[in-house]
Amino acid sequence: MEPQHFAARLVAWQRRHGRHDLPWQASTDPYRVWLSEIMLQQTQVSVVLAYYPRFLQRFPTVQALAEASEDEVLAQWDGLGYYRRARNLHRCAQQICHAHGGVFPRTAQGLQQLAGIGRSTAAAIAAFCFGERAAILDGNVKRVLGRSHALPAPVSAAAELRALWNLAERLLPEHDIQAYTQGLMDLGATVCKPRNPSCLQCPFEGDCRARQSGSGATPLFDAADGSSAQQQARDAPVKPAKTRRTQTWVLLWAENAQADTASIWLERRGATGIWPGLWCLPQFDSREQALRHAAQLGALTEHSPRPITRHALTHLDLQLEPLQVRITPTPGARDAGGNWFTLPAALALGLPAPVRKLLQTAANLAKLQDAQAVAPT
Ligand code: SF4
Repeated sequence: MEPQHFAARLVAWQRRHGRHDLPWQASTDPYRVWLSEIMLQQTQVSVVLAYYPRFLQRFPTVQALAEASEDEVLAQWDGLGYYRRARNLHRCAQQICHAHGGVFPRTAQGLQQLAGIGRSTAAAIAAFCFGERAAILDGNVKRVLGRSHALPAPVSAAAELRALWNLAERLLPEHDIQAYTQGLMDLGATVCKPRNPSCLQCPFEGDCRARQSGSGATPLFDAADGSSAQQQARDAPVKPAKTRRTQTWVLLWAENAQADTASIWLERRGATGIWPGLWCLPQFDSREQALRHAAQLGALTEHSPRPITRHALTHLDLQLEPLQVRITPTPGARDAGGNWFTLPAALALGLPAPVRKLLQTAANLAKLQDAQAVAPT
């Protein structure tokens, strides 16, 4: 397929059938476009739709984001997962404010120098906001290009990526870069899906190499290289099915017996591993370990387990067993990597989603009890 034909068909298709009402499409403000691009990495549009306006309301400008504390940013990001993105977002806002006078670089090359902005994301921002002819190549686009053009079998993953970037650049149109870029994203997300692509709705249906090599009216393409599922099944070595692991975590829910307002002990997690850098109820493998840790915080007055909850991570199922204790704190325990927080203060921190849920339930219950206590009998 000639590059100009590919682009012309894609642009025409996008104008008729593409997505036009996503909130970030209403603006060419690089702050808004950048925010949407980062949120959309590894997160579905339906989820981002709920977070995007809320985040913008709290941080309406890149300056507001740069001036916020990391905890505030993580708290607003809570639930979107992959917290490294939120940290990079914050660092990037600070770089823009401190090194670029609060103004986004206007080229893909310049944008790519900033924290958390890779080549494809930089190209998307530059194309949407500044009209630059820059090629994007996220997972969806790799699939569309790989299938429609059926590149020769690569000798390595790096060679395959190079070939895809070269193809993405060759196909760039002279005009209509915004509609073209949006078209690639839309086609990958809504038509050329990983499984069961809707080829009959695709502008490349007549020429698509993967479709032509498919074996049936509704071919099952499943890979970026456009090969059919049947072909892959023949070629692929037999791999054992991936099994999900389950881990049990005991979460120490320590309440301060001396505080006037209910307060709990939270510790900041390490920079690596699960939920890096977030505040959390201290985590242990057993109740005994948790109780030993509690004894270091102060004198234990009582303890009782709370209901178990479950939380699914990408490759791991967590069984969370909160262990509630009341403690008369030892002075100085505040320095032991954690601190006492009232429930509202805790809820303003960056917390893992299941811990936020636990604390929110406790906060709601406390409110209810307060209301009942003052209600006339
Ligand atoms: S014809 Fe089918 S496989 Fe080919 S690009 Fe279109 S949707 Fe994807």
